[in-house]
Amino acid sequence: MRVEIPRSHPRYESLLIREKLVEGFNEGYVVPQGLIAHGRGECFDYLIGEKTIEPAFKAIQAAAATLLLAKHPVISVNGNVAALVPGDVVRLAKVVNAKIEVNLFYRTEERIRKIADVLRSHGADEVLGVDDATATIPELFSERRRVSPRGIYIADVVLVALEDGDRTEALRRMGKTVIAIDLNPLSRTSLAASITIVDNVVRAVPKLVEVASTMRSQPKEFLEEIVRNYDNSKTIAEVLEHICQRLRELSEKVIKR
Ligand code: ATP
Ligand code: MG
Repeated sequence: MRVEIPRSHPRYESLLIREKLVEGFNEGYVVPQGLIAHGRGECFDYLIGEKTIEPAFKAIQAAAATLLLAKHPVISVNGNVAALVPGDVVRLAKVVNAKIEVNLFYRTEERIRKIADVLRSHGADEVLGVDDATATIPELFSERRRVSPRGIYIADVVLVALEDGDRTEALRRMGKTVIAIDLNPLSRTSLAASITIVDNVVRAVPKLVEVASTMRSQPKEFLEEIVRNYDNSKTIAEVLEHICQRLRELSEKVIKR
């Protein structure tokens, strides 16, 4: 059952997103831990200002170029991503010619199947990680180590969202380029990723689709130039500076009230 939220509610968008997660939870593919993770994300979204900020947009451009240049790009999907942006994930996979793989920290066959069904109902032709998670990521002990030998295992570029730090670090140690979408600029995932998009998945994935669609017709050298000029540490530092600046402005406003 979805609760009716009046459009006039000042936090309408945010509440709508929560309802999607609750729906995924009631349908059995979002885990309670996913709801907690979302709450942490909301807090950082509040600090950022609930919009795609300039450093996030730069990261999105570098991510789109990296995905388009990749040999075996893979989009890793978990319960929260499936609940929030299933259609955009499928669109992105088509635009950059990536595979989609379900990969869960709290893995059960039932959850995997339900998430694959959600993705298929949004147009995915193929979903990896369902019956074929037979390879393992070395040095990783959670259920997230199980991956598809046709997907994440051989991928050169992996896009992850709401990812755990251990796995991001393990994927980097395997030599992969990791693109992370994570609202917390200080999480281990954000700090370990090759490209960190500090933005909400509900904004970042549709923007990635848009940017990749326009970049697709550009020459390879143009895309390589974007990737070469991108500096992830600088981007994360700019996000932190944005938050500091915003908090300074807000504190002045509060004093003047
Ligand atoms: P890490 O393991 O990387 O140190 P963590 O343990 O603090 O991170 P996890 O629960 O492993 O956190 O990962 C969830 C991450 O996803 C959090 O950093 C959270 O801010 C982020 N997050 C939650 N909801 C969203 C969302 N809608 N869009 C983008 N990021 C989100
Ligand atoms: Mg974690």
